[in-house]
Amino acid sequence: MTHVFHRNPKQTLPYAVKGDGIHIIDSTGKSYIDASGGAAVSCLGHSHPVVIDAIKHQLDQIAYAHTSFFSSQAAESLADFLSSRAPGDLDHVYFLSGGSEAVEASLKLARQYFVEIGQAERHIFIARRQSYHGNTLGALAIGGNEWRRKPFLPLLAPAQHVSPCYPYRDQGSHESDEQYADRLAQELDDTIERLGPQNVAAFVGETVVGATAGALAPVGDYWKKIRQVCDKHGVLLILDEVMSGMGRTGYLYACEEDGVVPDIMAIAKGLGAGYQPIGAMLASDRIYQAILNGSGFFQHGHTYMGHATACAGALAVQQVIEHEQLLENVRQRGEQLRRELHQALDEHPNVGDIRGRGLFVGIELVQDKASKQALDPGLKTHARIKQEAFSQGLMLYPMGGTIDGVHGDHILLAPPFICTEADIHEIVKRLTHTLERVLPRQA
Ligand code: PMP
Repeated sequence: MTHVFHRNPKQTLPYAVKGDGIHIIDSTGKSYIDASGGAAVSCLGHSHPVVIDAIKHQLDQIAYAHTSFFSSQAAESLADFLSSRAPGDLDHVYFLSGGSEAVEASLKLARQYFVEIGQAERHIFIARRQSYHGNTLGALAIGGNEWRRKPFLPLLAPAQHVSPCYPYRDQGSHESDEQYADRLAQELDDTIERLGPQNVAAFVGETVVGATAGALAPVGDYWKKIRQVCDKHGVLLILDEVMSGMGRTGYLYACEEDGVVPDIMAIAKGLGAGYQPIGAMLASDRIYQAILNGSGFFQHGHTYMGHATACAGALAVQQVIEHEQLLENVRQRGEQLRRELHQALDEHPNVGDIRGRGLFVGIELVQDKASKQALDPGLKTHARIKQEAFSQGLMLYPMGGTIDGVHGDHILLAPPFICTEADIHEIVKRLTHTLERVLPRQA
């Protein structure tokens, strides 16, 4: 009997005892390729000596001092690093301990901004149906994963949901990317008009959708068009880059590729790369000034925010990525990964779509390619794939979920930025083998 209340109490898990680059070794000596970076976290792989030294160095000085008394050089340097590389005027960095906290803070900051500028009616958040923004109550309220939300519905603040940008399923066969993006932007415009623009605080979306739909990147100018609609109505744009940010797509901030600047952005996972629990919210100067010139205080805060050891670890992670020019590797290896997946799996009858950006790659599985009919949810294909891959020493992040009443099985790949050409070959080889076992092709 274990006293740890595990994520899935029915499972018996091996113990991870050692990390070695892209590998995790368990207590029996078995080695696993971390092809999902856990959940798109471990972007530098495991046991990186530079990061470990930076953390040790900080611990030797001071581990933690409460942020109502002190700042730290680590927090100041990390904030400088992040803001100086962020697009637009996202100049102000508020540290948190993870992704859900970063999203909660973003929602509260948006709300308080409108209170400060005398538009206190603005309280409605609009998000998208296929999204995941975290498991705390505020983040869950805006999230669009029906299964995660269902038991807690009476506790969730009402939020509005619009259509996801999901070209594989929703783009018309004769609809150009431009027309599809226009249609989605119009839907947001209509929704804001219906709710009354004076009541709407912000639109929230993952720049590239991760956990709910498997590395789902938007078409062409989707975000630019959404930004225009937000601006037209004085609605803030909050981008959740908890999973897609910090280099995962080949750009430090995923939205750089889309040419948009949000008012508020949430980051986490790759920020500390798993070496320390850390997240952050970046806020534009306009929002920061409104707080400063208003009540002068953001009514928020957590005990561990701005934790010096977490900041020191994250700063080292980001410096290594920059010094070693790993984002170039992310772009190259990402292209290689998609190319090899296409070569290996395009003919597989259950592989409906292969998509993504950088080393953020998704595979959507279907029962029938022509109709795109989903696999029977009762088969729990995603869970079987995870188990089979794990037995073969491959960590994948498969998911099954329901969007607009349609079930879907996806596999998310998010290997560390340090992976080599040979590592990608091996990942594709083991993944192909896994799929052939779980979903064998009919002779
Ligand atoms: N937002 C997104 C886009 C995420 O992918 C996640 C985590 N999967 C979260 C928020 C929540 O982050 P955390 O689990 O660190 O609270």
